[in-house]
Amino acid sequence: MREIDTDYLVVGGGASAMAFTDALLHASDARVVLVDRRHRPGGHWLDAYPFVRLHQPSAVYGVSSLPLGQNRIDESGPNAGFYERADASEICDYYSRVLDEQFLPSGRVRFLGLHDYRGDDGDGHHVMSLLTGQQTTIRARKLVDATYIESEIPSRHAPSYSVAAGVHLVAPNQLVNLDAPPGGFTVIGAGKTAMDTCNWLLDAGVDPDRIQWIRPRDPWLFDRGSFQPLRLVGSYMQMQAHWVKAAAQAEDGMDFARRLEASGVFLRIDPEVEPEVYRGPIISARELDALRTVKRVVRLGRVRGIDSRRIELEHGDVATQPDALHVDCTAAGVRMAAARPIFAGDRITIQYVTITGAPWSAATLGHLEATRDDDADKNRLAPPVAWSGNASDLLQFCYAAMSGLSARTSEPDLATWSEICRLNPASGALQRAGEPEIAAAFTSLMTNFGPAMRNLAARVGKAAASSP
Ligand SMILES: Cc1cc2nc3c(=O)[nH]c(=O)nc-3n(C[C@H](O)[C@H](O)[C@H](O)COP(=O)(O)OP(=O)(O)OC[C@H]3O[C@@H](n4cnc5c(N)ncnc54)[C@H](O)[C@@H]3O)c2cc1C
Repeated sequence: MREIDTDYLVVGGGASAMAFTDALLHASDARVVLVDRRHRPGGHWLDAYPFVRLHQPSAVYGVSSLPLGQNRIDESGPNAGFYERADASEICDYYSRVLDEQFLPSGRVRFLGLHDYRGDDGDGHHVMSLLTGQQTTIRARKLVDATYIESEIPSRHAPSYSVAAGVHLVAPNQLVNLDAPPGGFTVIGAGKTAMDTCNWLLDAGVDPDRIQWIRPRDPWLFDRGSFQPLRLVGSYMQMQAHWVKAAAQAEDGMDFARRLEASGVFLRIDPEVEPEVYRGPIISARELDALRTVKRVVRLGRVRGIDSRRIELEHGDVATQPDALHVDCTAAGVRMAAARPIFAGDRITIQYVTITGAPWSAATLGHLEATRDDDADKNRLAPPVAWSGNASDLLQFCYAAMSGLSARTSEPDLATWSEICRLNPASGALQRAGEPEIAAAFTSLMTNFGPAMRNLAARVGKAAASSP
């Protein structure tokens, strides 16, 4: 039995764990042991489908201390005019460099890859090597759970519907390994993975009529043009201004979404169908135009079972054929996890604390852990922003995010850190406050922030009081 003493045991080696650890290391002299079942850091990106890319710019992804990508603006393709977005191999390489060139040389970090966290008892935390079975006891001042919002991805996901023998059902990962063209493609799911899959098939020359898309509920999408940092940060500040103005006026979550659609921040795939889902995917207008060419959309609820001739859904059946390829895109991606206190004695549970990205949230928590002593204070500064996935819950989501933002902005040291942290999409906006687009956004934010917080408090309080 091996024994290790450390300050923090971080369980998980994904984007959340890495951003938290990076921020903690930079603001303290803490020692950290990172444990992951996977062999390298990077989390779900290590098993992602080959055509995945970040849906937000690389410029605001990763860890704060090391840039990801070159901050280049793409000149062609569906992302033209927007900051570059890394693919999975670039992201995995990046996290390896963060570990090998930054964390390990600091002498303060140990990485135990292919190790499973098994829990704790009075003696310490227990992890086991998945290669040798060797047990290690880790005694740490604090446990950081960076698995609570762990991603659910197609290649590690078992569909919840039955699949008869002989039916061709694959994860998107397998689309690049076909032996022969299938008789058609049925894409199952309404989220970002399904959209990526349809767009990749279309880009690769598949006729839209050969794609059947099972989309139980349509999602609200973020316009990528509203989510640009650095030289284009004015677009992000305008998005924030629209967001806060909508929060000041909205009567409920759906009303909030419609207001953001009216201001160009939210998009829908089908102009005739009002979305009910909100999971925060970001898309460009060109990608959206391509998706709209897929006309064979099935809206009969979720799939219950597939056999060689028929797909059974909640509200009816559709035909399929023995040589059709079914692509399962039903893994949740971002996991819907109920909010729980983030800082609780010797345990930190990493969750979203902003509306924009796991790394920015986790870095904020790492910085708070290093610079604040009191758990109640840290929890006040970083209330969890939980996703239900339902657009009807957008006001609760919005209230939590804005409460945290307001609390952190009121503390000068945190405001200064946020302004320079590269993971913050709004970073640098203050220096550009003289630009008309940014000045107008700041004016709007100052006008609407107070009314928004009052409206949200009243509406969210009302919703909570009327729920069982
Ligand atoms: C396809 C896809 C695209 C996305 N694109 C973006 C994007 O552009 N921008 C954005 O901000 N977000 C995006 N996301 C959201 C995504 O969830 C985050 O960006 C981020 O990568 C999640 O990192 P994580 O560390 O929270 O989870 P994960 O990457 O899932 O890492 C959790 C880790 O915990 C480990 N683990 C779990 N249990 C144990 C245990 N008992 N012992 C040891 N290890 C354990 C797992 O092996 C895993 O490696 C995307 C998600 C998906 C699925």
